[in-house]
Amino acid sequence: MYTDQFDLDDAMTIPDNPEARQEAVIRLVSELSTVDKATDQFDLVDALTMPDNPEARRQAVICLVSEMATVDDATGDCSICFQSLSEGTPKQVSCNHVYHRQCITDWLLNGRSNTCPMCRHDI
Ligand SMILES: [Zn+2]
Ligand SMILES: [Zn+2]
Repeated sequence: MYTDQFDLDDAMTIPDNPEARQEAVIRLVSELSTVDKATDQFDLVDALTMPDNPEARRQAVICLVSEMATVDDATGDCSICFQSLSEGTPKQVSCNHVYHRQCITDWLLNGRSNTCPMCRHDI
């Protein structure tokens, strides 16, 4: 009997049932190829680490930055450009550091990583 709840881990570790194991591997591989295509599931992390598609990368960065919280009453300086955060649009990243929207956008676009410039936290 087949249900949707086919336990891959169980099947992969059954040593005395090569057929179940083969079935499990086929299923695993078919699931992998589905994830690879990712047509309607736009994967930010994938796009951010895509060196050969600058346009997708740019879109991903813009999308990521636009989703960051805007800090209306930010004080202090942006650690990227050293200008006051009260100028421009301060954006708060997931580790609570605050940068200008333009600065963090440029940082993400020019860097090869999507980590905070201050603490290397994943943004
Ligand atoms: Zn700045
Ligand atoms: Zn940080």
